[in-house]
Amino acid sequence: MALLEIRGLTKHFPLRKGILSGAPETVKAVDGVSLHVEEGETLGLVGESGCGKSTLGRCIIRLIEPTSGNIVYDGADITQMAAPEMRTMRRKMQMIFQDPYASLNPRMRVGDIIGEGLKIHDIAKGTELKARVLELLNRVGLRDEHFGRYPHEFSGGQRQRIGVARALAVDAKFIIADEAVSALDVSIQAQVLNLIQDLQAEFGLTYLFISHDLRVVEHVSDRVAVMYLGKIVEVAPARRIYDDGQHPYTRALLSAVPVADPSRKSERIILQGDVPSPIDPPSGCSFHPRCPFAEKICSEEEPALTFDGDHGVACHLFGPGKTGAVSMPAQPE
Ligand code: SF4
Repeated sequence: MALLEIRGLTKHFPLRKGILSGAPETVKAVDGVSLHVEEGETLGLVGESGCGKSTLGRCIIRLIEPTSGNIVYDGADITQMAAPEMRTMRRKMQMIFQDPYASLNPRMRVGDIIGEGLKIHDIAKGTELKARVLELLNRVGLRDEHFGRYPHEFSGGQRQRIGVARALAVDAKFIIADEAVSALDVSIQAQVLNLIQDLQAEFGLTYLFISHDLRVVEHVSDRVAVMYLGKIVEVAPARRIYDDGQHPYTRALLSAVPVADPSRKSERIILQGDVPSPIDPPSGCSFHPRCPFAEKICSEEEPALTFDGDHGVACHLFGPGKTGAVSMPAQPE
């Protein structure tokens, strides 16, 4: 059953009109995204920096307000939910941020940071609150004496553990982890990822795991959605994406990841140029200026995200049931 369903979500940021400019411009950070996350699963969301994945994450829990579309959480449409109801809803939906130091108030002791949500939502107070915070500290691998310390006294990995404990404090069921391990050393990344997975099994958590790092996403995800310039271009079970990703953008991202398994295909697809501006995205398929397989139709018509079972691809040429589906042809000279 889907715990979260988003339908046609957009977030457009208007730009201030310059003196010499004409019509006001808009940054289309998220542009018509529809996705669901099943209860108890981890959906990985990947894409290059600036593709809109963090904006999408923030829109889902309404840290920023979407421009249009719908967000349905556990059967309730929260898109227009009033602030008091939304506050209650945020108990169930929490976020872990990339930079744990920036997201932790440096003037607050760790015990108060973790206990803040318990107070706000009137879950516990006094000795009960302290006991609950100590329990959480221990559960994420920290110790009782850390209760009275400040964020600057911790390493990056420990600060991320504090962020995890803060999310768990209010009994969240759905957690958006936004580049949660990107700032950590590889060995610390593994520890935090293992913790995140252990907690999922223990508390039945559902994750949206946002990352630019495909190796990390492969490690934790049940399904993976690939985002490009504000849109989802491919979504499928993780194994399918990594073994048989169809969209040329997916294949390009995968081809840049070093592979330890020699049986995996490893042809490198070099993308041309930079990511286009989301202010004025290319016509048709927004990937067409960089796609080595683009044909005439690609600049004329936007491909819809079409599904064959649980595998969706937005491409005119590649995808389940299409002519280019079985294997990616060699890159043209
Ligand atoms: Fe490339 Fe065309 Fe597919 Fe877009 S629609 S990814 S340009 S082949």
